[in-house]
Amino acid sequence: MNRVALFSHHACSAHDPGPGHPECPDRLRAVLAALDHRDFANLLREQAPLATEAQLCLAHPAAYVRDILSLHPSDDELRALDPDTFVGPGSVVAARHAAGAAIAAVDSVMEGWADAAFAAVRPPGHHAERQQAMGFCLFSNAAIAAEHASRHWGLKRVAVVDFDVHHGNGTQHILETDPAFLYVSSHQYPCYPGTGAASETGYSRNVVNLPLAPGSGSSAFRAAWENKGLPALRAFKPELLIVSAGFDAHRIDPLAQINLETEDFGWITDQLMAASGGRLVSLLEGGYDLMALAASAALHVRRLITAPL
Ligand SMILES: [Zn+2]
Repeated sequence: MNRVALFSHHACSAHDPGPGHPECPDRLRAVLAALDHRDFANLLREQAPLATEAQLCLAHPAAYVRDILSLHPSDDELRALDPDTFVGPGSVVAARHAAGAAIAAVDSVMEGWADAAFAAVRPPGHHAERQQAMGFCLFSNAAIAAEHASRHWGLKRVAVVDFDVHHGNGTQHILETDPAFLYVSSHQYPCYPGTGAASETGYSRNVVNLPLAPGSGSSAFRAAWENKGLPALRAFKPELLIVSAGFDAHRIDPLAQINLETEDFGWITDQLMAASGGRLVSLLEGGYDLMALAASAALHVRRLITAPL
């Protein structure tokens, strides 16, 4: 049994992007309710701290960070940062806790009191570009965590794996210029945000994209990882693996057409644990059917606890 830390914060439920928005507060409530079960009694439950301005600047220019932190919408006001990305009164604090959870999760496995960690947070992060909020995301949680691992902990090889059904354009663009990082993503293609072709291989050949056609399912997903994604990850020999864990490739998710079963998320979790180098940090990204999200995230965390490291 692995020691697994769970980072979350009630402020992450106070981010409300408006009525009918798929990235809704109930997502986090559903995940936390599924983890409120005796199977998870041994999770090391921690409050996610606020990321500092300096930590947010690990992946974003100071001017962008200041612009986001200066947004103070009044009650009932929603600011649109792009057609999908809205900031309400609780959003900026939620985003700071989400990024803070990613950093604290890295610290937990680097300090050695956890083998793996899961950040149950929102808003998600993998679409946020260096200087642009997009796709429900304000700050690039995974890239901030990777940069923190590199600069604070001195790691030379940090991998980010992203199995959200959408390509993590922001994570790729922030990390692809530095060979200390490897980014591997499976995603529906073509689909939002439009990036993630197999021909995008990074400036240091440190990006591996595994595009999956709409209508694919478990066998195509597993084959892409077995044939290309996992071999690239093993060859890189990461000292730390950061996972952008989105569960919207589930067959009943309303936002995409990759037809994974809940068990596929257990399978990929086992594979990633085995290739992680002994330290794995997982960050919640997408997943928009509440029942599928809760079941898939719970299975993911269960396998973080039980998978051989
Ligand atoms: Zn997604």
